[in-house]
Amino acid sequence: MITLALSKGRIFDETAPLLEAAGIHCLENPESSRKLILPTNRENVRIIIVRASDVPTYVQYGAADIGIAGRDVLIEHGGTGLYQPLDLDIAKCRMMVATREGFDYGNAVRSGARLKVATKYLRIAREHFASKGVHVDLIKLYGSMELAPLVGLSDAIVDLVSSGNTLRANHLVAVEEIMKISSRLVVNQAALKLKRESIQPIIDAFAKAVCA
Ligand code: ATP
Ligand code: MG
Repeated sequence: MITLALSKGRIFDETAPLLEAAGIHCLENPESSRKLILPTNRENVRIIIVRASDVPTYVQYGAADIGIAGRDVLIEHGGTGLYQPLDLDIAKCRMMVATREGFDYGNAVRSGARLKVATKYLRIAREHFASKGVHVDLIKLYGSMELAPLVGLSDAIVDLVSSGNTLRANHLVAVEEIMKISSRLVVNQAALKLKRESIQPIIDAFAKAVCA
């Protein structure tokens, strides 16, 4: 049995065509089903639905053989025990620093003042500001980061941005790009050795579909 860990929403939606290319289709819609283990047309392949940030954990411990997770999630997890053979070029967005419209970010950085930064992505934020030599107080949030600068919780946020609509709606502006983000295939290293005959063809089919 091969277990594939996916999260609902954009990752599941954008992975479906890649799965089709590998001859796999899910027999139930995760958005309408309450089941967390979904069968596929292939008797030896099943899909488990987990929180996006939990995908690397399931694969690391071998509870899933394969998973698909954002570069953001993989950096925050650390990548221990994960083989990352393929960038799937899906769920694309950018990790950005954003502030309120009137805030002079350039000046705040130059003046060496401590910056309060709210984010869900502590590791990415810590490494980014350390590499710039900017002193920050990081404040961990679990969502709705856009609110933090509006109510004085922080000077800036580090968050994922795609269209920029949410920032605009809250009078925030992106002031710096930290990195480009897309989702990657991750494979449990031991599973790859033990079940290579089943796993390698899936990786190859994904690779071919990504190129096409
Ligand atoms: P949860 O909503 O369960 O707290 P999450 O917000 O990390 O978790 P999703 O919103 O489904 O989960 O995002 C999953 C992945 O998709 C992210 O890890 C990121 O790589 C990518 N992603 C997030 N936001 C966007 C976006 N606006 N556009 C494109 N890709 C995005
Ligand atoms: Mg989300």
